Amino acid sequence: MNIPQSSNPRFVIIGGGFGGIALAKKLRDKEAQVVLLDKHNYHNFQPLLYQVSTGGLEPDSIAYPIRKVLQGYPNFYFRLANVLEIDTNKRKISTNIGDINYDYLVVATGSQTNYFGNKGIEAMGMAMKTIPQSLNLRSLILENFEQALLTDDLHARDALMNFVIVGGGPTGVELAGALAEIKKGILPKDYPDLDTRRAQINLVQAGDRLLPAMSEVASRKAERFLEELGVNVWKNIRVADYDGLHVTTDTDTSFNTATLVWAAGVSAVSIKGLDAKEFLCRGNRLKVNEFHQVEGFKEIFAIGDVAQMETEDFPNGHPMMAQPAIQQGRNLGDNLVRLLENKPMKPFVYKDKGSMATVGRNKAVVDLPKVKFQGVFAWFVWMFVHLYFLIGFRNRVVVFINWVYNYVRFDREARLIIRPFKKQNQVDRNKLMQD
Ligand SMILES: Cc1cc2nc3c(=O)[nH]c(=O)nc-3n(C[C@H](O)[C@H](O)[C@H](O)COP(=O)(O)OP(=O)(O)OC[C@H]3O[C@@H](n4cnc5c(N)ncnc54)[C@H](O)[C@@H]3O)c2cc1C
Repeated sequence: MNIPQSSNPRFVIIGGGFGGIALAKKLRDKEAQVVLLDKHNYHNFQPLLYQVSTGGLEPDSIAYPIRKVLQGYPNFYFRLANVLEIDTNKRKISTNIGDINYDYLVVATGSQTNYFGNKGIEAMGMAMKTIPQSLNLRSLILENFEQALLTDDLHARDALMNFVIVGGGPTGVELAGALAEIKKGILPKDYPDLDTRRAQINLVQAGDRLLPAMSEVASRKAERFLEELGVNVWKNIRVADYDGLHVTTDTDTSFNTATLVWAAGVSAVSIKGLDAKEFLCRGNRLKVNEFHQVEGFKEIFAIGDVAQMETEDFPNGHPMMAQPAIQQGRNLGDNLVRLLENKPMKPFVYKDKGSMATVGRNKAVVDLPKVKFQGVFAWFVWMFVHLYFLIGFRNRVVVFINWVYNYVRFDREARLIIRPFKKQNQVDRNKLMQD
């Protein structure tokens, strides 16, 4: 990996997401060599992925070069590497670009889409966890309308213009709202020769309310906002399978759609060598103590989505959200410095700053620890918070200008098919349409 030996201890961080970056910033100018490994050379601001998928933002405005974050940090090394395995006995990490030893290791690999073993949905559904996946979804949505324009078959046309989003958490709610706004404000102008009123946006939730991690009032209000936008909200329905056209559920309800977006679950990204049952909890998360140490190890830590720290207030670990990852990264950074100074580490205490979701223009729900509100003010708060946490001055300016432009013009100009998306089983799907 071309990283010099150092007389200082070597900290290796796997993952430059919210947790990894927050941690790295704390280790600047410390008596340690820090190596950050990530399979991407950029930090991905996942909360705004749905806006990339729906043409509201360009992908580069929500991505930020990891090297730029670390610019000017002495004793810091970034390597673009996919970590394959950890040998905890030899304290060695194997990657696609070679091996590296560590004195201390921090796993901050985040989470991935969890299909709960459903192969049909995995093969034919769309996920929205990475920027390439969001670009695929953007292309598919637009390609569907181009295709709908060409077909005489009403069933095929409807299926191309129907969308099924599975999962009523923030991702599903935000995506459904954005698609409904496109249907209302953009499609009739872009496709005057297509009856876009027939387009249907279906949001399917297994539980009895949307946004189950938020307050009841936020759930109710989000559902009302979606209905006002024309989204069909289906609750207490569990999607069972998808073959590229037909969606079956555990009830009599079924859908015909060329686009199923799976936003119904994530599981932690575990790495070989640290994936034995004894280290893992529900959702493959690594069990850690209050100092972020992975059970059974003093020198291996985990933070963010991949870590499960069970506390009285959070018996199933902290929510898989940006704030816990950032706060854990900062706390671990302070603790690693204390370790270098032979001082005792401080236990992590999560400060819940609340949660929020946006449904569309002037429509958002915000739950703060002491107050809950919805509507226009919530929407401004949502925008401010997202701009604040976005990494990079340029990104903040670009996103802000885009939002102002989109608001004033009722538009989303990034609706571009830059990289056409073809599903693996596209042929099969076309055949299904003809059947
Ligand atoms: C669509 C969507 C919307 C979201 N909206 C919100 C929201 O509104 N508010 C909120 O608080 N949270 C939201 N989240 C959740 C939030 O993004 C995550 O909780 C947060 O990113 C977790 O941070 P992390 O540091 O643990 O992992 P991540 O930020 O996911 O970073 C993990 C990093 O590890 C790298 N990596 C993984 N495996 C390897 C490997 N083997 N080798 C090398 N590198 C590797 C990845 O490339 C990535 O850079 C959303 C997530 C999604 C997908």
